[in-house]
Amino acid sequence: MAVAALALADKSLQPFVHSLNRFGIQTPWYKRGEVRTTYNYCDMCPWRCGVVVQSVGGRVVKIDGNPKDPKSRGMLCARGQAGASFLYDPDRLLDPMIRTGARGANQFRKVSWNDALDYTAEKMLKIKAAHGQEAIAFFGHTSGDFWFTDHLPQAWGSPNAAKPSMSLCTSPREEAATLTFGRAIGNHEPVDWEEARCIILIGTHIGEDARNTMMQDFARARGRGAKVIVVDPRFSSVSMKSDTWLPIKPGTDLALLLAWMNVLIGESLYDKGFVDTWTVGFDQLAAHVKPFTPEWAAPITDLTPDQIRQTARMMAAARPQSVIVPGRHVTWYGDDSQRMRGIYIINALLGALGAARRLYQRRLPGGARATHPTP
Ligand code: SF4
Repeated sequence: MAVAALALADKSLQPFVHSLNRFGIQTPWYKRGEVRTTYNYCDMCPWRCGVVVQSVGGRVVKIDGNPKDPKSRGMLCARGQAGASFLYDPDRLLDPMIRTGARGANQFRKVSWNDALDYTAEKMLKIKAAHGQEAIAFFGHTSGDFWFTDHLPQAWGSPNAAKPSMSLCTSPREEAATLTFGRAIGNHEPVDWEEARCIILIGTHIGEDARNTMMQDFARARGRGAKVIVVDPRFSSVSMKSDTWLPIKPGTDLALLLAWMNVLIGESLYDKGFVDTWTVGFDQLAAHVKPFTPEWAAPITDLTPDQIRQTARMMAAARPQSVIVPGRHVTWYGDDSQRMRGIYIINALLGALGAARRLYQRRLPGGARATHPTP
C-alpha cells in the first residue's frame, strides 16, 4: 500500500493522498505538493550558517546547509537541522504577552504588537520623566540585537546597553586579546585549521557544543593527521579523538599553562625568531615562569610532570602550525582573562600568530607549500 501511495501521490491526487494519510500511510514530503525552495540563515545559534529551506504548502519540511555558504558548506549541526521543529513547537511564543497577575503567578494576556509597543513606550516615558533616560538599560542577545543594543539606546540617550551573553561567553577572551595584542578577536576565532599540525583544546568541547564550521574544520584537520591534545577533566567526545588527553583538576589550567611556558622557554623549544621580531617583555616572562616547573604544577593540576613535559614538546615539534584554540564560552572560574592571556602568550611562543603568512612567503619553486618552515 505504501508503494501504491508513492506512485499515486501527485498534485491531482491530493485528496486520495490525504485519505491514505488518515489511515497512517505517509507519503514522503516531496510528494505532498509543490516544493518551494528558499534561502535563509539558521538562527538556532549566533553562528548563522546559510540554509536551504524546502517548504510544501507554506510549511517548512526540510532545512539543509547551503553548499555555497562558507559557514555551513552544505552541512548543518543537529541543532540547525532541528530548526523546523523549533518553528512549529506548540510552546513557541508567537505574540507579545502582558502580565496580568502577580509576578510569578504565570498570568498573561496576548496583545497586538502595536499595543505592546505603546505599552512599552508609555513605561519608558514615565521612567524618563521621573529619573532621566539613563535610568533605562537595554539588554540584547544574538541576531538582531545590534538594533536593540547599539542603535536604540543611542537614539534614546542612554549609555546603558549590554549583551550579558558576552560576559558569560567570550568577554575574558576579548579582554585578554586586547591586553596581549592590543586588539580584541571579534567574533570567529582566527584559527588556521587548514595548516594546523597540532591542535590544543582547553575545555573546548568540539562536537558537543561547538559551531558547525569549527566541527567540520576540526574533523578535516584530524582526518589529515593533525595531532590533538585535549585538556578537560571530563572524557569528552573530542577527548576520545585526541592523541593525548590531560584530565586536569578543574580550575587549575593556569598552572598548566605556566608550566608549559616553563618547558618551552627552559628547553629552548620556543620560536626565537618570532619572539625577537614581534614581542616585548620576553626576559621578564622567562624570569617569571622559571619557578613554575612541571614538578610545581603536577600536584596542583593532578597531572604528572612527564605529561606536562611531553605535551609541551609535542606542541613545539609542530610549531608554528601548533595552536591552542582560543575557544568560545571561556568564562569559567574568575581568573579567565589571565588564563586567556596565558593561552595567547603560548601561541606567541609557538610562533603561531600570522604563521600562514610566513608559510605563504616560503612557497617553494613550482608553488608547493613548505611544510616545515624554519622560524
Ligand atoms: S552552528 Fe548549528 S545551530 Fe548554529 S547556525 Fe550553524 S547550523 Fe545553526
